[in-house]
Amino acid sequence: MKDDCIFCKIAEKLIDTVIVYEDEECIAFEDLNKQAPVHFLVIPKKHIGSLNVISVSDSHLIGRIFCKIKEIAAKAGISEGGYRVVANCNRDAGQEVFHLHFHVLGGRKFSWPPG
Ligand code: AMP
Ligand code: ZN
Repeated sequence: MKDDCIFCKIAEKLIDTVIVYEDEECIAFEDLNKQAPVHFLVIPKKHIGSLNVISVSDSHLIGRIFCKIKEIAAKAGISEGGYRVVANCNRDAGQEVFHLHFHVLGGRKFSWPPG
């Protein structure tokens, strides 16, 4: 755990969130500032600062997270309509929290290209 990291604190249950899924490796919780009717974040419990610092040894973890995204999306009822998975990396993408997280957004139509 990184002491000054808000998502490490969420993983440790030191900050309250609405948890939608949890196992030994990852946790999913509702985004505080929803951008769609369904908007949750999936994070590894292990601190990884951003996509820029993932390594091959994280491959299994990242792969499992995507399998969980699929399952949670199905439970949230957005599989058929569709959903968007977003990982903002660094300044140009607007990353605000430097603990790797995947936004999962659904329940409305999204435009492309993104803003
Ligand atoms: P990003 O810009 O990709 O770093 O997104 C960070 C996301 O974390 C934003 O959508 C915030 O609304 C969300 N967020 C920040 N703090 C919390 C929190 N305590 N609980 C839930 N979501 C949070
Ligand atoms: Zn962290």
